[in-house]
Amino acid sequence: MLFIASECAPFVKTGGLADVIGAVPKTLARLGVAVKVMLPAYPALTKLIDSGKSVAQYDDLHGGPARLDMARAEGLDLLLLDAPHLFDRPGNIYLDADGRDWPDNHRRFGALARVGAEVTLTGADGWQPDLVHIHDWQAGLVPAYLRQSGMAAPPCILTIHNVAFQGLFPAASCTELGIDKALFTPEGAEYFGRLGFLKAGIAFCDKVTTVSPTYARELLLPEFGLGLEGILQARRADLSGILNGIDLEVWNPETDPALVAPYTARTLKRKHENRAELERRFALNANPDAPLFCVISRLTAQKGLDLLLEVLPGLVGRGARLAVLGSGDKGFEAAFVAAARRFPGSVGAIIGYDEPLSHLMQGGSDAILIPSRFEPCGLTQLYGLRYGTLPVVAHTGGLADTVIDANDAAMVAGCATGVQFAPVTAAALDHAIGRTCEIFRQPSVWTKMMRNAMGQPVGWESSARSYLDLYDTMTSGGQE
Ligand code: ADP
Repeated sequence: MLFIASECAPFVKTGGLADVIGAVPKTLARLGVAVKVMLPAYPALTKLIDSGKSVAQYDDLHGGPARLDMARAEGLDLLLLDAPHLFDRPGNIYLDADGRDWPDNHRRFGALARVGAEVTLTGADGWQPDLVHIHDWQAGLVPAYLRQSGMAAPPCILTIHNVAFQGLFPAASCTELGIDKALFTPEGAEYFGRLGFLKAGIAFCDKVTTVSPTYARELLLPEFGLGLEGILQARRADLSGILNGIDLEVWNPETDPALVAPYTARTLKRKHENRAELERRFALNANPDAPLFCVISRLTAQKGLDLLLEVLPGLVGRGARLAVLGSGDKGFEAAFVAAARRFPGSVGAIIGYDEPLSHLMQGGSDAILIPSRFEPCGLTQLYGLRYGTLPVVAHTGGLADTVIDANDAAMVAGCATGVQFAPVTAAALDHAIGRTCEIFRQPSVWTKMMRNAMGQPVGWESSARSYLDLYDTMTSGGQE
């Protein structure tokens, strides 16, 4: 089977997509399914090519020579599209130094899809996939190329990791990318007059999945579908939600090298040592009577962090502290730096992307705040559960599917793992923070919730089996 995607942990990561692409093939391998992962050869991956094996050459792939190489690294079988004119660029894989989309992103990811479709149809080095699983808009044109080839193709499944990223380009790009005019219709690749890579993927693949059951339902609504709700409703019978998991080896509080004091559900007191280190790193005061909250996030409007900025006086007033690690919108970056100055000792902000620090924050915080306006699945609440760092989350998408709210019924049943709030407003967030602080003042209740959280299965086994079941229906001719 072939995965086609634009990022993959640990090589190149801008968000949760990378974690999924890095983890699922390894779980599928344990279940007996061999996966090759096709990725662009960004600078972080070109060193693997030197030891790899070239399986195809192109004299002119969207403006320059290219080749496809096979390599093996980090337990993954990789197919790397080495096209220096498209992918050999410093910095963010999607954006230039000024934070704007690279102007040739349609050529870059159109090339990935084109070569991906070719490998799907004709194979590479004697290997041919029985199924192709594409991810997000960057691979969205694959089924369009498969369809217009006129050849019998293996089934294609698309996973939408975030519908807000659609890959929209001028209609004229169709000619440049060799997309048949016949596919450029409102039922096909056209999104309100533009070429939509994700739209094409949804229109022409055999099955569509997204990363949680609640988000699969939300996507059919105008508030969440962002203009794609119509085509998703049309494809409703082929749409399902399969929850993301996390890599239990990488995210393990018992063995995590980023923690100063690794711990288990039986040695929870050791978490305090991590908290002390976190307080030091973020210049925060200690206060055993109120929780230390953290945020680990892209700083964008999606994540609802404007609401958090609004309620900071309430958080600080309750004696709680906040450590923020993130990067993204310059306005949010500046606002959190300013908040740290306004509330010294209570709010700390580190702007940037820092994988080890994100682990330490999961290990040392009491609770993680995720007030997202929409969240397809969300991974940081899953890491939080695993590390006994209770998630305080908006009731949306995968957050709704993975956290058990500490309401009266759940408290009586003794199964709560976090706090949920709705609607996604500053007032509801403030109330949720207040509730969290109250629970924190009851150590035995808090400890019970930590243990519940740490006991929740958040690995890939169950979801990988759901993917396998879906693959089986597709390859055994089970689909229409
Ligand atoms: P999204 O994919 O929308 O960004 P997710 O919660 O699904 O949100 O995944 C985000 C991933 O990126 C998580 O692995 C999280 O730990 C990581 N992450 C986000 N921001 C940072 C940061 N500034 N430093 C380190 N890791 C980060």
